[in-house]
Amino acid sequence: MAVQPIRLFGDPVLRTPAEPVKTFDKELRKLVKDLTDTMMDAPGAGLAAPQIGVGLRVFTYNIDDVVGHLVNPVLDLGEECDEDGDEGCLSFPGLAFPTPRAIRAVAKGFDMHGEPVTIEGTDLMARCLQHETDHLDGILFIDRMDAAQRKLAMKAVREAEWSGLAPVVRYSPHATGGRAI
Ligand SMILES: [Zn+2]
Repeated sequence: MAVQPIRLFGDPVLRTPAEPVKTFDKELRKLVKDLTDTMMDAPGAGLAAPQIGVGLRVFTYNIDDVVGHLVNPVLDLGEECDEDGDEGCLSFPGLAFPTPRAIRAVAKGFDMHGEPVTIEGTDLMARCLQHETDHLDGILFIDRMDAAQRKLAMKAVREAEWSGLAPVVRYSPHATGGRAI
């Protein structure tokens, strides 16, 4: 196990766009293992490298017992939208809010060995692909909400016991029911 501390909302690394992976080496394979171990330990449905303080375009996912990873993802989204599906984030422990997302998404990228990979997702998988790719661009799920919902979310964030603790690094204190990504 190589479980890493998960960075909380407020940590600047979560707002910093990540760099593309250029070298598919041992370091990258260690990063994928750390992300996978940390995600499974949380537990969460997905985890992006910036959430453990690494500025590379890599994320892992764990949807319906399918565990995988993607490097340098590029997304293609369907037009149909789920306006109010609940979404959480391991960097916002214990919180979930309705967040609009495309119902279908296709993510193209690479595995840790540099082989091309295409992941087609619907519903929760599509939501996860969008949420994690956003993390790689420094975008958080609160940015995807309309103004009214974001206001409610920020109120809950301010009231959360972990609020104001970032950028002090600490473990995510709550179980998240497997929904947080
Ligand atoms: Zn997240």
